[in-house]
Parts: sequence; structure tokens; C-alpha cells
Amino acid sequence: MSNKTLYKGFTLIDGTGETPIENAYLIVEDKKIVKVGKASELESNEELKVVDLSGKVVMPGLINSHVHINLEPVGDPFGVNKSDAAITLKSTESLKKHLYSGTTFFRDLGGINYIDLDLRDAVAAGTIEGPEFLAAGKCVCMTGGHGWTIGREADGPDEVRKAAREQLRAGADVIKVMATGGVMTKGVEPGSPQLSEEEMRAAIEEAHKVGSKTATHAQGTRGIKNAVRAGIDSVEHAIFLDDEVIEMMVERGTYTVPTLAAVDFIVKNGIEGGIPDYVVRKAESVQEAHRNSIKKAYEAGVKIAMGTDSGTPFNLHGSAPHEVKLLVECCMTPMDALVAATKGSADCLGILDNYGTLEEGKFADFLVLDENPLDNLDTLFDINSVYKLGRKVR
Ligand SMILES: [Zn+2]
Repeated sequence: MSNKTLYKGFTLIDGTGETPIENAYLIVEDKKIVKVGKASELESNEELKVVDLSGKVVMPGLINSHVHINLEPVGDPFGVNKSDAAITLKSTESLKKHLYSGTTFFRDLGGINYIDLDLRDAVAAGTIEGPEFLAAGKCVCMTGGHGWTIGREADGPDEVRKAAREQLRAGADVIKVMATGGVMTKGVEPGSPQLSEEEMRAAIEEAHKVGSKTATHAQGTRGIKNAVRAGIDSVEHAIFLDDEVIEMMVERGTYTVPTLAAVDFIVKNGIEGGIPDYVVRKAESVQEAHRNSIKKAYEAGVKIAMGTDSGTPFNLHGSAPHEVKLLVECCMTPMDALVAATKGSADCLGILDNYGTLEEGKFADFLVLDENPLDNLDTLFDINSVYKLGRKVR
């Protein structure tokens, strides 16, 4: 008997955006997909282990482009002062929550004391269970800028360049820079620009020299433009977009990762949930503009990847299905939202060669669903089973 497994009888949503295939099959060998197609065209004389998935729907595992695995999604995540050991233990639990709720890969955009990088290596080595992930190490921000309590503060292009190099030396896969203020940090406003175009360009150059992607926290229009002009690969949050920056992003192929869930959970839980009043006030004041910006960007053809910002207040680890639903409520078709959560995120992260769609040669990261998510997205909240690298984990 070979170590190949044949999954058959299901409806396939392959992540490319193509029409689903009824009665499809998938052959998995070790960690990878070796064949995929219509059951009627299956030719194989080999002896295979067979898993009958008749009546089920199979789609790629979700890829979350924006997570903070080291943050606990309590009312005031920065108010908890915990030891590195405590953060590590909690993060280990959070990793499982992502995986069991259907996220098979993610990107961490801001860790604490490089714990994110050690966790990433532990998952890759198989020491702890979780989705594989890419990590940024410490986010790079201006002195007193958004995220400064956990970030690397740097001022001026030379120091920002050095800060980026430090992250790469520590083993970061991606460089995160803070282009504007944000909701979560006291005393900074979402709309105000922070790191300058010249400062961000220095960090971006360093990342691109070694083939790494760059992402920016960017909410206000001026800061978003600074980051896009500096050559950023993805704009996270993108709360205030105007026509000019939308055009720039379409032209340059810049991704946006809306993270609608972050704002949604803050507004829903409010001060009663223990969220600081300045956070609630800022979130409420930007929510409508945020949705309008994402709708305009989507309609104009800006590339969209799915990310939740998990670790912000009440934004639980594993909240990816919630973000998919919010993207649809905001503007996207269910198919486009699923593509954003799979192929789009994989492209945004730079891992599309191996992940993001169910095609030959890619890793066998997939979900088995009882219903078709194109008809009922709620089925993503109750996933039948999750396969990671060809192995059933739930
Ligand atoms: Zn974030």
C-alpha cells in the first residue's frame, strides 16, 4: 500500500475563484497534493487509501494575513504585564485556536520580545501544534508612535534602516512599519502620519533586498500615501482611502488587509467590556469611513487579502471566519471573500507557490465543510475537519 490517500466525492472550491467542481477528488501524498480533478476523469491503478467525502465541500485552509499571536484579546491587551514565559504559554494555546477554527497559515505582524519568532520555529519543527506562520518580530515605529510599547522605536531613515536590519537579523520574515497613529495606543490619532516616506523607504529597501515582504499599519490618508509611495507591499487597516491612493494602489498592485473584525469587536463590546474609553471612541468614529474605503477599494480593483488583527480587544485567536463574513457584509461576493482568505492572502504573504489554492504540487492544507460556504458562510464557524500538511488535525 502506498502512502497516498484519495479523497473523493466532494464539491471542490479550489481557492482560485473558478466555479466549484462537483464530485471532485484529491490525491495527497505525505504533505502534498499530487493530483486533483473531477472524479469522472480519475485514472489510477494504484492501491490508495480512500476517504469518502460524499456530500461534503472541500476548500483551502484559511490564511490570516494579520495576527498578533503574543497578544491576548482582552479589553486592554497592553494593560496586561506578563512574563515572557506566560506570554509563550498563552500563545501556544492561541496557536491551536487558529488551527482548529480553520486557519492553516498566518502572518504575525508584531510580537513581543521576539517570542513570535521562537514560536514560529517551534511550529515548523513540529514541537508544538499550530498553523505555520511568518512573523515580523518587533514592529518598527517612531518614538512614541503607534505600538511603541512592544515595538522598536526609530527616528530618521538611518535608524529606521537599522531597526529593520535588526528584525531581519533576529529572523523576521516580514518587516512591519507604522505609517500612522492607531486606535489601540493612547494619545495618538488614527489619522495622523507617523513614520515619514523616507523613513519607511529605508526599511522597505532592507526587506526587499533579502526578498522579504513589508506591511504597514496605516489608517489616515496621508500616511497611507507615504507608505504606498515608499513601496510598501500591503496596507493594513486602510481606514481613510481617497481616490488618489486607491488609484496608486491599483497601479502598483499594493494589497490591502482591511481587518474589519478589529474595529467591529471593539465597537460591539465597548467600555462595558473593559476596553479603554479612548479605544472605543476612536473605533466608533472610524467604522463607517473604514467600510466605505474598503468598498471603494474593492470596486476599483485593489487587491484584498484577509486578516483579522487577532489579539486586539475581543478579537479572538481564530476569528478568521468572522472577518470573511464582514468582508461579504461590507461589499465582497462570497467567492471573492473566500479567494481573499486563501489565494489572496497567500499572494500577499509571498507563499502562493506552496499554499493558498488546492492545486497539484501544493501543500495539503484544507478544510472539510458540511455545507457550501458560498450558500451559507456560517458553515465556516463549524468546520467538519481541518487538514494541515496532509494530516487531519481536527
Ligand atoms: Zn495589528
